[in-house]
Amino acid sequence: MLKPHRNNYDVIIAGGGPAGASAAIHLARGGVRVLLVEQKKFPRAKLCGEFISPECQAHFEKLGVAGAMVASAPALIDETVFYSSKGHHIAVPSKWFTGNRPAYGLSRSLMDEVLLRSAQENGVIVYENASITEPLVDRERVAGVRVKVNGEHHDFRAPITIDATGRARILSRKLAHENAKRPTLVAFKAHLKQTKVAAGACEIYFYPGGYGGLSTVESGTSNLCFIIAAENVKRCNSDPNVVLRRCVMNNPRAAETLETAEVSSEWLSASWERFGRQRPSPAPGLLAIGDSAAFIDPFTGSGMLMAFESGELVAQVVLRHRRDSASDLEADYTANYRRAFDSRLRICGLIRRAAFSPRLAELCIAICGASERFRNRLARSTRAQSKSHNFLPHNSLLE
Ligand SMILES: Cc1cc2nc3c(=O)[nH]c(=O)nc-3n(C[C@H](O)[C@H](O)[C@H](O)COP(=O)(O)OP(=O)(O)OC[C@H]3O[C@@H](n4cnc5c(N)ncnc54)[C@H](O)[C@@H]3O)c2cc1C
Repeated sequence: MLKPHRNNYDVIIAGGGPAGASAAIHLARGGVRVLLVEQKKFPRAKLCGEFISPECQAHFEKLGVAGAMVASAPALIDETVFYSSKGHHIAVPSKWFTGNRPAYGLSRSLMDEVLLRSAQENGVIVYENASITEPLVDRERVAGVRVKVNGEHHDFRAPITIDATGRARILSRKLAHENAKRPTLVAFKAHLKQTKVAAGACEIYFYPGGYGGLSTVESGTSNLCFIIAAENVKRCNSDPNVVLRRCVMNNPRAAETLETAEVSSEWLSASWERFGRQRPSPAPGLLAIGDSAAFIDPFTGSGMLMAFESGELVAQVVLRHRRDSASDLEADYTANYRRAFDSRLRICGLIRRAAFSPRLAELCIAICGASERFRNRLARSTRAQSKSHNFLPHNSLLE
């Protein structure tokens, strides 16, 4: 049975992925009493490409977990190579994003565990195996959450609640009375042994109906994660091994690298209906971060970066609001969120058309192959624009 430490907090965070855990660490360090509720027990595997963009390392330093991440022995990834369905390819070096740092290949079970335990060490109260079922609403303001643990419900209250439940967006959806829509896309992920992926590379394969990524994580294991139209999955009897052989390995480079591969974990799958933006503040008293606020296309390899950036941003805005309670929390957060993320989300929306059409992907790869300058600008436009938002340096949240 859950024995609550208390029922009232300054901030409740729903979800303990990278967005929720990083926001919790920043807030707790700023003197805020935080409750974080996570439905799973960590460590747990997570459907993801497990490519941790080089810019995330600056976030690990600010969060005080850089040493623990290095101790987890991530694979170092120097470039991402995109392969068209005809085998043409272009490379995007990791150093284009930070100057000299490689990306990390690290499993989500390790990365997310390090972040969640660090939140606890920073004083955050963390409930795992605890599922948020609905928001509590007082006079049209979100005032906390209802949590189900072992079949029992418990209510927790706070003036500010943060939805960090990823693409589930549990609180935002419940408030909008949104029903689940028919999924148009399905993703699968597994760890593999004996692939022929190039050392130091994340390889992205385009094929009819979707794309997939293969890269190395800790211990020399390969992580394969791919997305495909739901109708193609149905045609393969929803069997990931059949989808892999019939669709993903349609790409000649994928056929070569995966020829001898053996699946060494269970397959994870997820489905969803759309990418892109949601409302950063879906209701008074409720702010959304990470995938709950916007789901950026996985080919950018920057979803986790956006989770850390929005976790930091929400903490900055909440701490400012605590110093000046006359400020409009929801409007302030929405304006700052849009400034930080709208431009890259718009650009990804345009590139997405090519990602799901082999002919357009072929054309895009040809254009990007012809001009390194264009390729560099396009790759960087999927990240923060230099003046769009000033994420603060280490420790400045405490001042
Ligand atoms: C196919 C695919 C490949 C991807 N590859 C990459 C990649 O290589 N690199 C990259 O940077 N990004 C990648 N992403 C994106 C990345 O996974 C997300 O952007 C990132 O996980 C977002 O973090 P988050 O904390 O917002 O959400 P999540 O990581 O989804 O965390 C949400 C947490 O909320 C919990 N939760 C959900 N519902 C409830 C509830 N009711 N109560 C309590 N807790 C709840 C979940 O258990 C989970 O732990 C990929 C995404 C997909 C779909």
